[in-house]
Amino acid sequence: MTQRLYYLDSFLREFPATVTNIREHSRQDGETLWQIALDRSAFYPTSGGQPYDTGTLRATSRNGAILEIPVLAVEEDESGEVWHSVNKPLMAGTQVEAFIDWPRRLDHMQQHSGQHLLSATLIHRLGAHTVSFHLGPELSTIDIDRDSLSPDDLTRIERVVNDLIAENRPLFINTVARADAEALLAAGELPKLPERDGTIRIIEIENYDRNACGGTHVHSTGQIGSLLIRSTEKVSRGLRLTYVAGLRAVSAARHDAELLHQAASLLTIGPDSLPEAIRRIQAEAKSAAKENQKLRTELAHYHAARLVVEVPYENGIRWVHRAFDDRDPDYLRQLASALTAAAPHTVAFFSCREGDSARIVFARSRDLDFHCGHALRDALAPHNLRAGGSPDMAQSLIPAHLLDTLHTTLTTQYHQ
Ligand SMILES: [Zn+2]
Repeated sequence: MTQRLYYLDSFLREFPATVTNIREHSRQDGETLWQIALDRSAFYPTSGGQPYDTGTLRATSRNGAILEIPVLAVEEDESGEVWHSVNKPLMAGTQVEAFIDWPRRLDHMQQHSGQHLLSATLIHRLGAHTVSFHLGPELSTIDIDRDSLSPDDLTRIERVVNDLIAENRPLFINTVARADAEALLAAGELPKLPERDGTIRIIEIENYDRNACGGTHVHSTGQIGSLLIRSTEKVSRGLRLTYVAGLRAVSAARHDAELLHQAASLLTIGPDSLPEAIRRIQAEAKSAAKENQKLRTELAHYHAARLVVEVPYENGIRWVHRAFDDRDPDYLRQLASALTAAAPHTVAFFSCREGDSARIVFARSRDLDFHCGHALRDALAPHNLRAGGSPDMAQSLIPAHLLDTLHTTLTTQYHQ
């Protein structure tokens, strides 16, 4: 069984070890992925919400050449053996020098110790319990047994956590017998206990929190650096808090500052004036849209009056056939209804192009007695196309090449 060096020293970055076992993990595109076990390892295998460490194994071959083999992933099996995924095989008995990818490990420790501090503060201040933890590649989350938290509560919790970071409280690792851990649980000194037998590893933040945990942690809260709550979101089991700690908090704040700067530059104002400026722009856009609608309606009426003058009666009907490829369907409907309301014995057959299709509006004034919806439906039925509409107005979207055929069908039927 692998001796887990990180249990006692999370800051151990390199160590000598001996390969004790090797197995083939998978084969893809002619490449074999191997898993090797070591007699001792400081590599953390994925568990308890914390992802695996990566790093390098250095071995010397029989001819004296140095092999540098990347550790791509690390997992533990049910028996507790730790398996290191590599793409070059190392036989049992091989001596290696192992190196942990330190920036990745430090980042994981900052997120994980940050989580203990955040979860403990939520219990102390609000009685809210953490039900799950996930350490993601960019963001970390905890789910708590609450439906919501007020913005004030969030700010207060974040502030307390950062005060505790500034206090630089030490973290201790204590390994205790299961019976002792159960006594702590009964006394309310531990929030929960894992199912498994054997000794229990307890991470303690001095005079603040005790937690049964197998993860890697910083030596003192100051090494967390800072913690920033990013957002909350309702999830099935409660409320999800997304947060970043350590250098991730600095990166997130820098990213936000750049976005705010860009947005403010577009408006040539300072970032503090953004909310007010956005409210003003929204109000202006709303009133411009209202004005635009009013002008479109007015335009449709003037436009209709001009069509009345342009198109004379023929056989007792004013049949207005126009294509408006620079107009939208909404304007076509407005124009058709303004025209047929203003002039008697008038029919509108309007179209506008939408790519390879054409939008049709077919309308008539109230003193004509055919049904526009039925007329358009019947004319399109032979082409397996559908139309919808009322007696006064109907519309459809048809392939553009059928426009002339459709117009001929309708004039033959209703304008002879
Ligand atoms: Zn933990």
